[in-house]
Amino acid sequence: MTSFDPGAEHAAIREGVAQVCKAFPGAYWRELDSRRAYPEAFVTALTEAGYLSAMIPEAYGGSGLNLSAAAAILEEIHRNGCNAAACHAQMYTMGTVLRHGSAEQKRHYLPRIADGSLRLQAFGVTEPTSGSDTLALGATATREGDEYIIQGQKIWTSRAEHSDLMLLLARTTPRDKVEKRTDGLSVFLIDLRRLVGQGVTIKPIRTMMNHATTEVFFDAARIPASSLIGEEGKGFRYILSGMNAERILIAAECIGDAKWFLARASDYARERIVFGRPIGANQGVQFPLAKAYAHMLAAEAIVHRAAALYDAGLDPGIEANTAKMLAADASWEAGEACLQTHGGFGFAEEYDIERKFRETRLYQVAPISTNLILCFLAERALGLPKSYG
Ligand SMILES: Cc1cc2nc3c(=O)[nH]c(=O)nc-3n(C[C@H](O)[C@H](O)[C@H](O)COP(=O)(O)OP(=O)(O)OC[C@H]3O[C@@H](n4cnc5c(N)ncnc54)[C@H](O)[C@@H]3O)c2cc1C
Repeated sequence: MTSFDPGAEHAAIREGVAQVCKAFPGAYWRELDSRRAYPEAFVTALTEAGYLSAMIPEAYGGSGLNLSAAAAILEEIHRNGCNAAACHAQMYTMGTVLRHGSAEQKRHYLPRIADGSLRLQAFGVTEPTSGSDTLALGATATREGDEYIIQGQKIWTSRAEHSDLMLLLARTTPRDKVEKRTDGLSVFLIDLRRLVGQGVTIKPIRTMMNHATTEVFFDAARIPASSLIGEEGKGFRYILSGMNAERILIAAECIGDAKWFLARASDYARERIVFGRPIGANQGVQFPLAKAYAHMLAAEAIVHRAAALYDAGLDPGIEANTAKMLAADASWEAGEACLQTHGGFGFAEEYDIERKFRETRLYQVAPISTNLILCFLAERALGLPKSYG
C-alpha cells in the first residue's frame, strides 16, 4: 500500500521500528490482552532502541527529533499490529518539561528518562466529576513551607502503576479567586515511587481493552515544592500546548491502525474463496475497504500537516484537533470494514482483529472526545458561539 510521506528521512526510522515490532507478534499481544497485563518487554525494547527518547534533546541523551519523527515512530508501531498506548505518553508529556521545566529539573530527569532508568508515562488530568471540563478540576495543591500538599482524585490515569513519574495538573488557587478563568492550575512532576502508600493510592480499572488505566487517590500527599513546573497558576497553558502534540501523535497511531486493518482485510479478501472466487472480487467487499482507504489517506495528509505546523513553532490547534478526529474516524471505519470482510473469523481472538477493533475504538473518546473537537472547531474555525465551558 503506498501513501504520501513528506518526511523521506523517516524511512530509516520506520524500518527500525518495524524491526523492533517483528519480535512482538499477535500472539504476544493476545496473551497480554487476556491477562490485561502491561507489555513490559515491548516497552523495554523500544526504550533500548532509543525510540521513546526521540523527542529528548541530544544534550540530555535523547535523539532530538521533532514531532513528525515521533509521529512516524508511533504510526509504524500500530501499522505493525503493536500498540503504543503502553508508552506513548512519554513523548507528549515531555514537551511540558522541555519547554517549561527549570534547568535543574531537565538536568535531573531528562537523561534518566532517555536511558530508561525513569519512566514518565503517567499524565494526571482527568477527574471523575470534571470530565472534559478540565478547568473545573478539583484536586488541590496547597503550599506549606517547602512542600505542596495534594488532595483529590484523578481518573483514567493510564500507566500510573508502570510509571516512576507523573505529570499532575492540580489547582493552586481557588476558581473564584482567579482573574482569568485559565489561571490557578499548576503542573507538577511528581515521583510516584516515593508517594505510593504515603498519601497516594492507585487502583486499576479493568476496561474493554488492555490499557493499564487507573484511578489515583491523593490524601494529603506531600511533594517537594521543587516539583512545580514553571510558574504557579500557569499550568493550564503549559498543558494545552502539550495537548496539540498529544492529539497529533494519537492521530498518527490511528493512521497506523487503519493501515494495519486495510492490509489485513485486503490480504484476506484476496485469499478467501466463497462461491468459487475470492470474496475481494465482489464490489460489496471492495467498496467499504476502498472508501476506508480514501478516508485514511485524507486523514494522513492532515496529520502530516498538523505535525509540520507544530514543528515550525506555530499553533496547530485547529489542524491537531481535525487530524485527531479524522484519523480516529478513519481507523474506526477501517476496523469495521476489516471485521466485516473477515466474516465470522473476525470475531476469533487468534485473528487479532477483534482486539485491534476494541483498541482503536478508544480514540473516539480519549484523549478528547469527538464532540469536544467539533465544539472547538465550531468556535475557533467558524466563529460560532462557544458551546462548552
Ligand atoms: C482508557 C482511557 C484512558 C485514558 N487515559 C487518560 C490519561 O492517561 N490521563 C488523563 O488525564 N485522562 C485519560 N483519559 C480520560 C479521557 O481523556 C476522557 O475520558 C475524555 O476526555 C472524555 O472525558 P469523560 O470521560 O469525563 O467524558 P465526559 O466529559 O463526561 O463526556 C461524556 C460524553 O458527553 C459528551 N459531552 C460532554 N460535554 C459536551 C458538550 N459540551 N457538548 C457536546 N458533547 C459533550 C462527550 O463528548 C462524551 O461523549 C482516558 C480515558 C480512557 C477511557
